[in-house]
Amino acid sequence: MSLQKIWLSSPHMGGSELSYIHQAFDTNWVAPLGPNVEAFEQQLESFIGSEKFVAALSSGTAALHLALVLLGVTHGDEVLCQSLTFSASANPIIYQGAKPIFIDSENETWNICPIALEEAILDRIKLGKKPKAIIAVHLYGVPYLVERVAEISRKYQIPVIEDSAEALGSTYKGRHCGTFGDYGALSFNGNKIITTSGGGALVANSPKEKSDIVFYATQSRDQAPHYQHSKIGFNYRMSNICAGIGRGQMEVLDSHIAKRRAMNAFYKDCFKDIPGVEVFQADETVSVPNYWLSAIQIDPKRTDGKTREDLRLFFESLNIESRPIWKPMHLQPFFENDPFYGGTVAADLFENGLCLPSGSNLHDSDRDRISTAISSFFNS
Ligand SMILES: *Cc1c(COP(=O)(O)O)cnc(C)c1O
Repeated sequence: MSLQKIWLSSPHMGGSELSYIHQAFDTNWVAPLGPNVEAFEQQLESFIGSEKFVAALSSGTAALHLALVLLGVTHGDEVLCQSLTFSASANPIIYQGAKPIFIDSENETWNICPIALEEAILDRIKLGKKPKAIIAVHLYGVPYLVERVAEISRKYQIPVIEDSAEALGSTYKGRHCGTFGDYGALSFNGNKIITTSGGGALVANSPKEKSDIVFYATQSRDQAPHYQHSKIGFNYRMSNICAGIGRGQMEVLDSHIAKRRAMNAFYKDCFKDIPGVEVFQADETVSVPNYWLSAIQIDPKRTDGKTREDLRLFFESLNIESRPIWKPMHLQPFFENDPFYGGTVAADLFENGLCLPSGSNLHDSDRDRISTAISSFFNS
């Protein structure tokens, strides 16, 4: 019999999710609105703090898309976007008919490089067009250089869309990720730190902004007895069933964060005596990451030529899932002709980076299998 698969990051129910779904059925709130949606939004608002207003949506991608819509990004506009990320950060730029301008990472947080960002802004302005927005990502739950990015945003008056899809519960100088941008996007996809099966949310700065988000997310219906539309709408609201799962998940969010952080500490320990392998960690004097996924960098020059792909295949042979880190957008076939500013930081991180099983539902027996695999791979 083969061993059970160890997943990178799988859904982890807390226990009370079904009771909220039952409530929804019992009261016939089986719709993209209802008491679970409102309660889930309130829980998110009190969790992230900073007097923000949260609109629950059908996905993190929908949240990012609506942020662009609300910022007025349209055909022919340019949007600056971190290259090292999941495609969902960049796709909504295309949905709006706008043009992505990709930016390299810095080595400290793996996120958008402020130097390349400023260089890009100056060059785009020189070429005749000031970019409309900056999409910055907290990759794997590690906060980007929040103050540096905010400073550039202020200096050039370009709003920031904070892609916090991987960073619910991460903090920077004591403040929650998702609260730094003009808008902050959250995701509750099945692989994220909490899930609603599929879902997302957009964090806004005022009740007016929140009601605008909800307006666009429910087909932009004007005030009228008939169906009247003066704006193009979207069907992006979260369902009351999914929000029920979200309410249950909020009860275990703190424990999920603690367990993901413990997985990161576990890997730090696994690799402590293995030269050429670095566990990705933040400067914890400023940031407390949720470590949604733990990732490593392998330098084959210091591991007798063993690469991240060798390790990935070895894990796979033992039914342990691992994945290369996100392939940068400027190296993707779809985006390869779009402008890119920076050097090879993101490309190098991709080349040597691997994400390891990080779920909050992993057991000691899973950790034993993983640590045994690591030592036999590096000591053979
Ligand atoms: C998951 C993710 C998204 C998209 O969220 P969905 O809810 O899956 O649409 C966006 N950006 C990043 C960085 C993500 O990891």
